[in-house]
Amino acid sequence: MFRKFLNISLVIALALSAALAQQSALAPSVERLRAHINYLASDKLEGRRTGSEGANLAAEYIAKEFSRYGLQRSIGWDTLGMSILEADSPNRYLQKFPYVAGVELGKGNSLSFRFKDQTNGTELRVGQDWMPLGSSSNGQVESSAAVFVGFGITASELRYDDYSTVDARGKIAFAFAGTPDGDNPHGQFARYEDPRWKAIAAKNAGARGLVLISQQKHFADEPLSRLQYNNSGGEAGLPVAIISSSTILGESDLSVKLGLVKHGLMPVVTFTSPVTLSVNITRREVEASNVVGIVNGFDPVLKNEFIVIGAHYDHLGRGGEGSLAPREGDIHHGADDNASGVAGLLELARIFASSESPRPRRTIVFIAFSGEEEGLLGSSYYVNHPLRPLENTVAMINMDMIGRMKNNKLIVGGVGTAEGWRDVIAISNLQSKPIAVAELANPARTPGKVTLVIGANGQLSSAIIHTQGFDLTLNEDGYGPSDHSSFYAKKVPVLFIWTGTHEDYHKPSDTADKINYEDEAHILSFVARIMRSIDANDARPVYTVAKSESQGRTMGFRVFLGTIPNYADSGDGLLLDGVRDDSPAAKAGIKAGDRIVKLAGRDVHNVYDYTYALGELKAGQEYEVELLRNGERMKLKVTPATRK
Ligand SMILES: [Zn+2]
Repeated sequence: MFRKFLNISLVIALALSAALAQQSALAPSVERLRAHINYLASDKLEGRRTGSEGANLAAEYIAKEFSRYGLQRSIGWDTLGMSILEADSPNRYLQKFPYVAGVELGKGNSLSFRFKDQTNGTELRVGQDWMPLGSSSNGQVESSAAVFVGFGITASELRYDDYSTVDARGKIAFAFAGTPDGDNPHGQFARYEDPRWKAIAAKNAGARGLVLISQQKHFADEPLSRLQYNNSGGEAGLPVAIISSSTILGESDLSVKLGLVKHGLMPVVTFTSPVTLSVNITRREVEASNVVGIVNGFDPVLKNEFIVIGAHYDHLGRGGEGSLAPREGDIHHGADDNASGVAGLLELARIFASSESPRPRRTIVFIAFSGEEEGLLGSSYYVNHPLRPLENTVAMINMDMIGRMKNNKLIVGGVGTAEGWRDVIAISNLQSKPIAVAELANPARTPGKVTLVIGANGQLSSAIIHTQGFDLTLNEDGYGPSDHSSFYAKKVPVLFIWTGTHEDYHKPSDTADKINYEDEAHILSFVARIMRSIDANDARPVYTVAKSESQGRTMGFRVFLGTIPNYADSGDGLLLDGVRDDSPAAKAGIKAGDRIVKLAGRDVHNVYDYTYALGELKAGQEYEVELLRNGERMKLKVTPATRK
């Protein structure tokens, strides 16, 4: 027995110290978690849409908590010359980044045309009869004749092309919104429904403008009429608008016309010249912020290494893009997604900043991200504008949706991103509780590993029993649909903690009363043990290339290049955050930081153009890719692989 104790490794001793910490007042508190989530997911914060008042209130709340716990402010950390007032401001927890909160109509939006049997042209009322799309480019286009192009879809892999029988060059194309599949979200055309794709198809066919015809009976019910802007997309590249069906089809039966189009009978609308479309929309830029607080390490050397722990605080507001609610307008509370992660972040910040808990040797950077739901905007901004050096950031742990634990099941992603991650996880997953020394002789009472504690007098003083904690599912990949992806793309080892998806995901019904607070507290103890375990090791985690389970955010394509786009970038072309090792892109010599401007002969202005071009590639065939690297233009050859 005694000998066994001598062989116990450092890691078990760590679990022991964590076990003792767990019993102190510094354990994650269910009451505190409840209070944080109740506030963040309340109606008052209106779903915390990035750039909204609700999101700002959430940021303010997080900053105030950081301040109460005594976290160091992250902005202006060399505070020379700063007044006491400035130095103390909660604003110094906020890392601001630019964000387009919405688009508004400028002056001079007009659409006019003349039907065949009309003598006077029809001047349409913007807002009532038609509306520019939020992604539309500004400009005025005039077309000698309009051309009707069915659904405006070109899908080479489906051998379907609405432009094959018409000449759209130099003209304004009219097409029905939607797809030949109707409302079927799993139909073969589903991914071509996005107006961004239709705009690219129109551009490729030489059209100068695109007008989509609503399938809604009432224009007010048309989602595309709401002038919404998508921060991860950029501009469409030509003027694009949506028009009401009654305006263009009169009182004729919409379903009959749609039926004709679905059977390949075109055109259904005939105009005489000219058609003019003029779009002028202004983008409303506001500030969005990450909230960043610091707990300094005490080791004179290791304090210059950083462990980032993050959770996004933004959510979907009242719906819109990303929502799975049947209708728009209701508050999406986002209690699990991701008030749960933020509450966890705050609890860990409180615990690690407390003078009663052992101080970490390394510096811990606590970040509440914004802009996650719209394409990892906040974390992407952070890794490109890090507040502590990224090369000394040894690990990033992300908590996104940790409030719905069921049957003790927990998912940990990113275990393939550093050597030894699996061991760290396994050790941290041991649940520890004290056991009476007298019970040690009874094997039925000691099912797990046992740590014996020897008192100063050399006698056995107490014992701790360790049993398996959570039922873990481990995923290798460091890429995934949340903020850890941004860090992994910069070669930082990551871990992603979540309790899985559920029926309230991205719906207004994701509310605070459904959170499993007790288990969330246990999860946080587990995360704290992981953090202590990383910090206990003198050597930093060694980054490794993880096996990928999903192949990035491709959209169901047959081919795979292995590029990781930066979804937050708004410059021309497609900026790459990373390239998967051993992928076709890596073999071609494409690198992180490259900006792709052309693929297989197609111009690439944004992520949509790129994905569109990708959809036309065939595996095993060589294509040319043109890119900008350090201001220099270069051409490489890439051969796409088949998706597994
Ligand atoms: Zn989400």
